[in-house]
Amino acid sequence: MEKKQFQAESKRLLELMINSIYTQKEIFLRELISNASDAIDKIYYKALTDDSLSFNKEDYYIEITPDIEKRTLTIADTGIGMTKEELENNLGIIAKSGSLSFKNENEIKDGHDIIGQFGVGFYAAFMVADVVTVKSRALGSDTAYQWQSEGADGYTITPCEKDAVGTEIILQLKENTEDEDYDTYLQEYRLKEIVKKYSDFIRYPIKMEVTKS
Ligand code: ADP
Ligand code: MG
Repeated sequence: MEKKQFQAESKRLLELMINSIYTQKEIFLRELISNASDAIDKIYYKALTDDSLSFNKEDYYIEITPDIEKRTLTIADTGIGMTKEELENNLGIIAKSGSLSFKNENEIKDGHDIIGQFGVGFYAAFMVADVVTVKSRALGSDTAYQWQSEGADGYTITPCEKDAVGTEIILQLKENTEDEDYDTYLQEYRLKEIVKKYSDFIRYPIKMEVTKS
């Protein structure tokens, strides 16, 4: 008899993820920083076997930029980036980990520094944002693409401008409610506190750009 695969009900899974898997909203930042760190590690691993690639540590970092006026929080990295297909496959399918595939494809056995494997962390962004925009340019590509989603309704992918290889995740923060203050994720001290609490072990510099108004 033919054995059929379960089809993940993505919308319901996404709702479940956002509402019950994580107990604290602030961990969205840990998840996005770990993805950024993984993306940089991937360039590092590629450079080990590819002589045309060099890895200069000072070129690789993660940058957090709160914009108080627009109420956006941007997490940018200078990592390996994603092609249009990778945006589709890695962000369009819940529980699909591009990082796990990367480790398998490149036969990285001691790649314990690559954190990702479950393919769900990214969606933690929807706990604090009602629009998530991902602008990415993959290593070796001169075109960039933008993935944008408001959550369970799906996503769009369109070409966009991006000068450097890497990824930018732009979170349009939710409106504050009586119980929840999302503006807190625009405050420098608060962001520093969250980074210190969950991402202190990250091997790449985490910079913060603060626009003073
Ligand atoms: P995991 O990290 O467990 O694989 P995530 O849901 O956090 O799962 O991310 C899904 C996938 O999306 C990652 O495995 C990776 O392939 C891709 N991805 C997410 N963020 C980035 C990023 N900043 N740069 C490159 N690829 C990314
Ligand atoms: Mg992850």
